[in-house]
Amino acid sequence: MTSLAVLHASQLVTVAGPKRPRVGAELSELGIIRDGGLLIRNGRIELVGSSGAIEFKAGGAEVIDARGKVVLPGFVDAHTHLVFAGNRLDDFERRARGDTYEQIAKAGGGIWSTVEKTRAASESDLVAQTQRHADWFLRCGTTTVESKSGYGLTLEDELKILRVMKRLSQETLLEIVPTFLGAHAVPRKMHADEYVDLVVDEMLPRVTSGNLAEFCDVFCEHNYFNVDQSRRILGAAKELGLKLRIHADQLSNSGASTLAAELKTTTADHLEQTDERGIALLKSAEVQPVLLPGSVYALGSTRYPRARQMVEAGLSVVIATDFNPGSSPTPSMPMILSLACTQMKMSPAETISASTINAAYSLGRGDQIGSLEQGKFANFAIFDCEDYRELAYWFGAPLTHGVYVKGKKVY
Ligand SMILES: [Zn+2]
Repeated sequence: MTSLAVLHASQLVTVAGPKRPRVGAELSELGIIRDGGLLIRNGRIELVGSSGAIEFKAGGAEVIDARGKVVLPGFVDAHTHLVFAGNRLDDFERRARGDTYEQIAKAGGGIWSTVEKTRAASESDLVAQTQRHADWFLRCGTTTVESKSGYGLTLEDELKILRVMKRLSQETLLEIVPTFLGAHAVPRKMHADEYVDLVVDEMLPRVTSGNLAEFCDVFCEHNYFNVDQSRRILGAAKELGLKLRIHADQLSNSGASTLAAELKTTTADHLEQTDERGIALLKSAEVQPVLLPGSVYALGSTRYPRARQMVEAGLSVVIATDFNPGSSPTPSMPMILSLACTQMKMSPAETISASTINAAYSLGRGDQIGSLEQGKFANFAIFDCEDYRELAYWFGAPLTHGVYVKGKKVY
């Protein structure tokens, strides 16, 4: 039996509270314990409280002195595209020069360049490249990520990407929640309906029989998959037992949030263009919005989703990185906290709930992770600052001091 005692944290941010996603004013209630501590046995939290109370029960436990530091639940990143080959550095430079999306695609950039590189990469190449990404997440204080396929777009390549996630789950301590996003884009020289047939008739049955995903996602947008095609894919996925997420209203208010409400998807992600009506529909269907300010920022746009209205409407808001090589190449949740505060006017406390407990519920893991409470996994991060608000404030600063997954030090 291994035990660990974390003692004397300036702020032990427990995010303790009701056993459900947090809404409204609850998002600001972080359950902070000053001079706080944790007692951990066999990877789980046995006790949370004042340092005095923990020390009294610690016995021979190994001690971590968190004096002058903040301890938070490990971040839960509920929207990433973790597995891909290469990068999009040339697109990045072209965009900085002012080139349009069309000009970049014409020059051989855009999603297709990533699809081609990912198809060409072997499974072990992809594992190695993704391992590097996984390390970045851990070093930013993230202990769980949702990860989507979607850079293969053929049966074999999509299965390859999902197998890479499975292998990585075994080889790294970062917890990976797999999502099948075969409908990320329509392959070249193929009609959308024809590709939807392939996704529904061939990909989905193989994904589920191989137990390779927990969720299914669709990129519902003009020139990608329309509402009817998205409904067909998500309906088929649901019948096969997958839970649902959807890329909704990123570039246009295309009816995707209405579809999310109709299907009662677990989450609707992006929502940059979602209006009041869409927000009301998401609320009535209890769909969790996953907001991705990193992609708005990296694309040089200013149209952020209406986070304030969503909080005020009672939605259980989640924020995530959208880590991907094209529109959001960041694994850093602290950077997302900063953007959420400065660009979406969320409070620092709201951003913490949105990136821990609410994100955990959106992945069906709210009873195991996302807060520091008795019985949960000891997934936590220690930061070199005395006040949790500093994480969003000193943006870009390297504040991570130590990261633990199930009581094991991973950074
Ligand atoms: Zn995405």
